[in-house]
Amino acid sequence: MSGQDDCIFCKIIRGEIPAKKVFEDDDVLAFLDIKPIAPVHVLLIPKRHIASLAQVNETDAPLLGKMLTLVPMLAAAQGADDGFRVIVNAGRVGQQEVPHLHIHIIGGPHPLGPMLAR
Ligand code: 5GP
Ligand code: ZN
Repeated sequence: MSGQDDCIFCKIIRGEIPAKKVFEDDDVLAFLDIKPIAPVHVLLIPKRHIASLAQVNETDAPLLGKMLTLVPMLAAAQGADDGFRVIVNAGRVGQQEVPHLHIHIIGGPHPLGPMLAR
């Protein structure tokens, strides 16, 4: 078995938990968030278990670059072709809930409002 045995997103990668997949290749998987906060809410994850953006290093740079480069295509494919927001929660202060690095891709159609409440 590859990945972290008890990691919920590794389980999705292995097909042990169902998810609405919207994109997949050898390196990454994108699927719909189970509790969307906007009409478009996709999660993009690396297939290799990386716990958090707080724990990446230089060897992860090509993968991270690839993931960000995929974002506009994934957003547009869900209908967010007029802008979107990307969020990566990390660690305790970032209130990351699932300890497998993921990029939230969030879109309208309507403007999303302020990034954080002031
Ligand atoms: P975090 O707070 O870690 O940045 O975000 C975790 C996200 O994963 C949340 O938006 C949550 O709704 C989503 N999530 C948690 N468990 C599952 C699951 O089993 N399936 C899917 N599709 N999304 C999940
Ligand atoms: Zn994992």
